[in-house]
Amino acid sequence: MPFQYRDAYTFATTPTGAEHLVAEANASRACGLNVKSTRETGLPFDVDAALRLAKQAQFNPMDVLDALAADIRAAGGSIVEGIRVMNVRNGDPLTVVTRKGEVRARYAVLATGTPILNRGLYFAKLRPNRSYAAALRLPEGTSPPPGMYLSAESPTRSLRDYPMPDGGALLLVGGFGHAGGRAPSTQVHVNELLGWANSTIRAPR
Ligand SMILES: Cc1cc2nc3c(=O)[nH]c(=O)nc-3n(C[C@H](O)[C@H](O)[C@H](O)COP(=O)(O)OP(=O)(O)OC[C@H]3O[C@@H](n4cnc5c(N)ncnc54)[C@H](O)[C@@H]3O)c2cc1C
Repeated sequence: MPFQYRDAYTFATTPTGAEHLVAEANASRACGLNVKSTRETGLPFDVDAALRLAKQAQFNPMDVLDALAADIRAAGGSIVEGIRVMNVRNGDPLTVVTRKGEVRARYAVLATGTPILNRGLYFAKLRPNRSYAAALRLPEGTSPPPGMYLSAESPTRSLRDYPMPDGGALLLVGGFGHAGGRAPSTQVHVNELLGWANSTIRAPR
């Protein structure tokens, strides 16, 4: 499966963001991560501070999903899509209740992101967040910045490249998130993301 190694940066463009990075550096080192403080990021703009974690794997999650699906089928499993699980009843075996009927199983792994069973009232405790992403073709002769980047400040800005089979690369820009359902216009946030990419990434240093 194709993947790339990239240095991963968290970058700050304000003094407050730089303070957050000190806390992130301390927490990272306490976990044994070999992060380095730097202001050399390869981004086409100056930063107040940045943390670099060298040689992290970057890959397309769809490739991983394809490989997982192939493994499941090769092991005799089947994959069912588009059917909502409504409940899981205790018992031996368990009963998984779906919109299209019931399935019995010795084990059930619920990996739904938001827990779907009302044990713990998570539906009332979780806060949905919506964010945006764009894959952009850069002007001839321009390359994406060399690392993977995440801003320390809000709104979050995330940048990385996506190598194309023809040898070129797309620039992936993500972030500009907000509480789900709270934006009068989602297009405004998309425009903000594209405007930021246009003014900061394309601009020559
Ligand atoms: C813009 C963006 C960028 C990100 N970038 C990165 C990144 O660079 N690196 C990284 O590591 N992570 C990244 N993440 C986070 C990453 O995508 C998530 O952590 C990951 O997808 C979580 O996987 P999951 O399988 O736990 O849940 P999900 O991917 O949310 O999958 C849950 C699945 O459960 C299904 N489901 C829910 N309820 C039911 C139900 N009742 N019945 C049946 N099915 C149900 C859903 O349809 C969904 O398919 C990013 C997230 C976003 C939004």
